[in-house]
Amino acid sequence: MTYHDVTIMGGGPTGLAAALSLEALGLSVAVLERAGAPAWAEPAFDGREIALTHHSVSVLKALGAWEHIPQVAISPLRQARVETGRRNHPLTFDTQGRGVDALGYLVSNHCIRRGLYLAASNRPNIHLLGGTVTRHIRRIGEDMTVVHTGGEIRSRLAIGADGRFSQLRRMQRIGAVMHDFRRSMLVCRMAHDLPHHHVATQWFDEGQTVALLPVNGGASSVVLTLPPDQIERLRMLDRDAFNAEIMERVGNRLGNMRLVSTRHSYPLRAVYAHRFVAPGFALLGDAAVGMHPITAHGFNLGLKGQESLAQEVAAGLARGEQPGSLATLRRFERRHRLATAPLFAATNGIATVYTRDEPAFRVLRQAGLRVADALAPFKSMVTEMLMDREGQHRPG
Ligand SMILES: Cc1cc2nc3c(=O)[nH]c(=O)nc-3n(C[C@H](O)[C@H](O)[C@H](O)COP(=O)(O)OP(=O)(O)OC[C@H]3O[C@@H](n4cnc5c(N)ncnc54)[C@H](O)[C@@H]3O)c2cc1C
Repeated sequence: MTYHDVTIMGGGPTGLAAALSLEALGLSVAVLERAGAPAWAEPAFDGREIALTHHSVSVLKALGAWEHIPQVAISPLRQARVETGRRNHPLTFDTQGRGVDALGYLVSNHCIRRGLYLAASNRPNIHLLGGTVTRHIRRIGEDMTVVHTGGEIRSRLAIGADGRFSQLRRMQRIGAVMHDFRRSMLVCRMAHDLPHHHVATQWFDEGQTVALLPVNGGASSVVLTLPPDQIERLRMLDRDAFNAEIMERVGNRLGNMRLVSTRHSYPLRAVYAHRFVAPGFALLGDAAVGMHPITAHGFNLGLKGQESLAQEVAAGLARGEQPGSLATLRRFERRHRLATAPLFAATNGIATVYTRDEPAFRVLRQAGLRVADALAPFKSMVTEMLMDREGQHRPG
């Protein structure tokens, strides 16, 4: 049996960020991750390009992870365009008059994970236990005991950060609202002949949703949403046929396109936990709130959640409360619910309106984009929300 102030189960980007924030408060932290140590330290490309807000960049800098992300892996996002149908008025968001050079920054998920892992592995009070699975967890007195494949850990606070299909959430008997969109997403990188000018384009076509996310090196991340069987067919298609089909699907807007990465698919299921806390226990990241990726908020909210938790733990410690005290955890839960519930509902609404093909939904989205583009205050509000400049720093 070992003792750490905090045990985090799940060493994804949110779990590692939480470890860094809590260790900075002087706490000792153990992180249990199912993946073996080599894959954890050097995660493979997984197709996800994460659009980071300015605030998220400043958090990653403060945690010491940003410095481990190579400059070429950081792609500025200068404009975002939303279109519906093939020849309709686009809704655009840009940085004009805002004194910044980008709406946000695209960074591959595996680079973020690697940066956080490197930062965590340099901290003396973070203990990284790769290849470790939690068997069960129970509360004895004021302590949480985590029984895992390599032994037992006692802590004041246990955190479940094991992703949207969280086992820890189930072990703690915390239910969740689940929304199955009955669609999957295919993600990959493709090089192309025409420049993207660092403009992200998302359009809602009949029968498909496509996003092109501009990354460095004359390439874009292609994000295609379709029914699962069609995604599987595309994932297995030979390269030449795949290239030809994607060029057709994106209306040839980037010229010749060539697949330059592995292809990955994700089922689209959104999750919102009924509770984020229990005595001595908290949920973070996708385990608490697993967003539809359409509004690019998932990890940004995961980072905010771990930040709120660390701030509330710090405030509690100053008052003499233990890290796992229910008063501390309830304050975190209130803050995180306020930060996530409206966005979760709005994102599900957008995902539904923009992916259904019935005529009423088509008319609604065309009218919606036209009206939204004409409303300057609305556009300004959404742009500020996408950028999230609270505590802004320029990357570099
Ligand atoms: C296609 C796509 C695009 C996205 N784009 C964006 C974007 O632009 N912006 C944005 O903010 N977000 C985006 N997201 C969301 C973002 O990827 C997630 O919000 C983020 O990865 C969640 O991190 P996490 O650490 O909570 O969970 P995960 O990344 O799922 O990590 C969970 C970790 O826990 C480990 N684990 C699981 N079970 C156990 C167990 N029982 N014991 C120990 N370890 C366990 C797993 O191995 C994993 O390492 C996107 C998601 C997808 C699918």
